[in-house]
Formats: sequence, structure tokens, C-alpha cells
Amino acid sequence: MRKVSILGATGSIGQNTIDLIKRASGEYDVVALTGARNIKQLAEDARDLHADLAVTADPLLLDDLRDALAGSGIDAAAGSEALVEAGARDADWVMSAIVGAAGLAPGLEALKQGASLALANKESMVCAGALVKATATQHQARVLPVDSEHSAVFQGLIGEDMKAVERIIITASGGAFRDWPMEKLAGATPAQAATHPNWDMGKRITIDSASMFNKALEVIETREFFEVDPSIIEVLVHPQSMIHALVGFNDGALMAHVGPPDMRHAIGFALHWPERRKLPVERLDLAALSQLTFRAPDEIRWPALRLAREVMEAGGHSGAVFNAAKERALDHFIAQKIGFMQMAEVVEEVLTRLSAQSGLTNAEMTLDSVLEMDHLARKCADEIIAGM
Ligand code: NDP
Ligand code: MG
Repeated sequence: MRKVSILGATGSIGQNTIDLIKRASGEYDVVALTGARNIKQLAEDARDLHADLAVTADPLLLDDLRDALAGSGIDAAAGSEALVEAGARDADWVMSAIVGAAGLAPGLEALKQGASLALANKESMVCAGALVKATATQHQARVLPVDSEHSAVFQGLIGEDMKAVERIIITASGGAFRDWPMEKLAGATPAQAATHPNWDMGKRITIDSASMFNKALEVIETREFFEVDPSIIEVLVHPQSMIHALVGFNDGALMAHVGPPDMRHAIGFALHWPERRKLPVERLDLAALSQLTFRAPDEIRWPALRLAREVMEAGGHSGAVFNAAKERALDHFIAQKIGFMQMAEVVEEVLTRLSAQSGLTNAEMTLDSVLEMDHLARKCADEIIAGM
């Protein structure tokens, strides 16, 4: 039986992963599940899947978790060290689906055990792509993309020679506000930003879709995953979210990956890789789709895309700064302390103020150096927001 762990099991990606695991329960031995606040779900899934260990990120909820697991024989633990321990438990395949930079350390630990890491947590690649890849190489572990666009590119590259690849195009739905007039955006509320036209995802990534910070992270993730020059990466607004990415070759061909907006496709692809297996996703009826449309993204409406280019140019630890500043700006937007368009202003200002420190090179990158930069950027973002 294949040993699997799910980090961020109670979230949107985690629950979709569990759905696939439950459908083929005889094939998997579930080692560890982690969550944060949703103790009821965590305990229920740990019991259903006969996990060895359940971890909550919140130490204050350890007693609740212990109570919920009483009599099951499942170990309960809490806190950031316990999350890292969950990653370190012997598993063959680990889903990395914690939201935010908190997902980095447990994922690295899984790679150190030689596990295949199915990476939904794009923040790991943005903050510490060089470190993630070096750790995987050192321990002969694999990182498999789960973000739908990156899974699509990965699939489009199977059997291809990277030398022939001239373009990588990732699509964006445009999020909740894609058709809003510019002048209305400053007044957009968190509740309005947290609705997505096509995908059903966690709240934070849904708001990041409306601001295009999600796409900005994904551009950087593309660069890290496929080790391509930033100049070949393009973003295309595609409101129907049917084509997830396209790979362009030197003979003019564009290979598009088309699929329903259901994350179980990308999760299942990473779960069964290198095989392709039947998955419980909708079969698209292209004849019934009246049209697929595309347009170029507007960098005034979505300044995050411009910032992503600056981050790739700066390199080093600027990805960690960018992500941490974005996470704090998002916290403050959700708390209604800053407006929707102010998120990008905060992130840009943090990048400027920390540009000297973030110059540490990839070769100097360690988990500590990344976490230190993450901490500095959060503090800097808080100071800027306090002065707004
Ligand atoms: P959710 O918010 O739905 O779930 C996040 C998970 O992380 C939950 O299990 C949550 O626990 C846990 N969590 C929250 N905060 C912490 C913390 N500080 N430490 C440890 N665990 C924590 O997010 P999604 O599932 O939407 O996204 C997960 C990751 O996957 C993100 O990196 C996202 O960008 C990426 N992704 C998501 C997609 C999607 O379709 N949802 C698509 C592509 C990528 P609890 O709920 O118990 O509090
Ligand atoms: Mg995506």
C-alpha cells in the first residue's frame, strides 16, 4: 500500500485530495493529516482514513483535537514543530496544501524523507524555489505540480525537448472584479472579492485571484518549476477557465490543456503520476460551450503582475519578501484595515524598502534565511499599513 500524508487536509485542496483517497481507500495507507482551526473535520477524516497522526497548527486547540480523537489510537499533536514532524513521517507521497509560507518547512521535511511532494502550496516555490529544488535533488525526491496551470504545463511538456519551448502561457479567469469599472475597485469589500466566477477554492486564494496576486505568484512559480527565462512566460485572461495553460514551441505550435475547473484533475494527475488514471471529473462537452474568449491582462487594473516581473528580475530572496508582504496586506484587507487597491501599494513599498536585504543569492538560501526575510517583510508591511 502506498503511504500518503496530507498537509492542509481540512482545506479546499486537502478535502479534494481526501475525496480521491477515499474512493480508492484500499490502495492507500494514510500516515499524517494536518489542519489548523477545523478540528471537527480533521478528527473525522483521521478516523475515517485510519491515520497514524493528526496535527493542528494551533497549540490552543490540542485538547480539542485529543478529545475528538479519544479512543481512536490516533496520535494528536499541535504547533509548528508538530507540522514539520508530520512532514517528516515516513510517507511515499505527500500533499502540500497548507496555505501560505507556513507550508514551506513541512514540505521540505517531506522531501528530505525522499517522498514525492505534490505541491499545491505555490508559496513554497515563490519564497524558496531554489531551496525546494536543491532539497529534492539532494534526497532524490520529486516535486509534482498541483496548481492547475502548472499541472497543465507539466502535462504539455511530457516527451518534449525544453530547447524547443518558446512560450509558456498561463491563463487567469480575472477573478471577481474582472468586469468592474476601475473606479469601483478601490471600494471593493473582502466579501465581494471572496467570490470566484469559476473555481471553488479557499478564501485567501480566491481574493488573490481578484487582485491577480495569485497569478503573480503563479508566474514566479512557473519560472521556478520549469526553470525558464521570465521573458517566455505570458499571462492571458480567459474568463471561462477551460484552458489552463498553453505551451508554445519553436515550430509555431501551441499545445493547450483543456479541462473542467475541478482541482481533482491536477491532484489526481500528481497522485497517479507517471500513470494517467480515470478520475471522477466532468467530461467536457465542447460543442455545448458556446465560446472561449481571451484578452491581454491590464497591468493598471492588476499591478501585481508588474510586481511579479520585478521580483523575478531581482531574484534571490525577493520572492520571500513579495509573498510575505502580500500575505500581510491580505490579512489587513480581510480585516478591512486597507482597501483592495492598497494591497499592491503595500507590497510594492515593502519590495522597495527591503531591496538591499533581499539581494541574498539563491546559493545562500536556507530555511532560516527565508524565514528571516519573511519575518522582516511582514514587519515592514505592518509599519507601512500603520502609516496609511
Ligand atoms: P484553504 O484555506 O481552503 O485551506 C488551507 C489549509 O491550511 C487548511 O487545512 C487550514 O486549516 C490550513 N492552515 C491554515 N493556516 C495554517 C497555518 N498557519 N499553519 C498550518 N496550516 C494552516 O486553502 P486552499 O486549499 O484553497 O489552498 C491551499 C494551498 O493550495 C494554497 O497554497 C493555495 O494557493 C494552493 N492552491 C489552491 C487551489 C484551490 O483550488 N483551492 C488551487 C491551486 C493552488 P483549517 O482549515 O483547519 O484552519
Ligand atoms: Mg492556479
